[in-house]
Amino acid sequence: MPAVPEAPPRNLWGLDRDRLVEVVGTLGLRPFHARQIQAWMYARGVLHPALWTDLPAAAREVLAREHVVDPGRLVPGDAAPDGTVKYRVGLAAGGAAECVYMAQGARVTLCVSSQVGCALACEFCLTGRMGLARHLDAGEIVGQVAGVARDRGLGTRPFNVVFMGMGEPLHNYDGVVAAVRLLADPGGFGLSRRRITVSTAGMAPAIERLATEAVRPRLAVSLNATTDETRDRLMPINRRYPLERLLAACRQWVERTRERFTFEYVLLRGVNDGDDDVERLAAIARRHRAKVNLIPFNAVPGWLPYLPPPDERVVEIRDRLLARRAPASIRWSRGRDARAACGQLAVLPELP
Ligand code: SAH
Repeated sequence: MPAVPEAPPRNLWGLDRDRLVEVVGTLGLRPFHARQIQAWMYARGVLHPALWTDLPAAAREVLAREHVVDPGRLVPGDAAPDGTVKYRVGLAAGGAAECVYMAQGARVTLCVSSQVGCALACEFCLTGRMGLARHLDAGEIVGQVAGVARDRGLGTRPFNVVFMGMGEPLHNYDGVVAAVRLLADPGGFGLSRRRITVSTAGMAPAIERLATEAVRPRLAVSLNATTDETRDRLMPINRRYPLERLLAACRQWVERTRERFTFEYVLLRGVNDGDDDVERLAAIARRHRAKVNLIPFNAVPGWLPYLPPPDERVVEIRDRLLARRAPASIRWSRGRDARAACGQLAVLPELP
């Protein structure tokens, strides 16, 4: 049977330059037109082909007729008192993702989801209660960024993107790496790759693979416990990649990239906040020359059976780490009141 040429995708949003070159090729356009389309969609946020004035009129007409540019529909939620806003993004392919806008002075950070739900089922995280519905593709991930950037009027102001919303980014490796490339592409969103951080619950082989990527984000590793016994209990992924294996991947990251990374550590009262835990955490951080980001647990009453330590204890833990020459900071959670904080993202029928 003769090969039937594949129809070009209807939704242009999320296509990278190479895919756009293919699409414009079918219209008799030249590769540089792909770059122009990319600039309209990602850099300028102009989503209707009829307005892409530097393309030939006939091509604009065909593009407008046969394609759509659909980054997903944004539904803003309430703003928390600290200015954090959680958005729900209705996806063109169905379902919804959540994305969080945070501003601290001039510093703006968008926290994006990489999956609808999550397969890893960490005990302290609400998203885990959803199970995994599906991976998001690159367009659905950068659609969250574009939608929120537009709603907040960020224009050409630089911002940070952290993959710390719903999902385990390295479980959706291809989608996330493609999204990182689009975000860092100078012809696309044009963010410095240093402004992009991927956070993982500890998928060791994927950390090693990420270290070899040409366009590499920054890395954050959710350590959350310093013994296999506790980590096994909190994070089922630890049974597959125990601490030894995870830390070996972290060392490989540093060796290959010559870049430091961050350990995130969710503080759970009476579970991982003892003096012994802090000693071990300091030793691990020092050995890997990594920074520690302490996250006091964000509660979701009725859903997650944990408490954060008292604030004084959180500060004391940070000071102990610093005294042991382990760089540490506290992520006082933002947006708790809008259920927009770390570990509180989920689309569950029983929740508002
Ligand atoms: N799956 C990835 C990214 C999403 S979670 C990961 O695990 O890194 C982003 C951060 O929020 C992780 O460090 C996670 O440990 C933390 N977290 C999850 N649930 C939390 C909760 N209820 N309170 C505070 N932090 C939480």
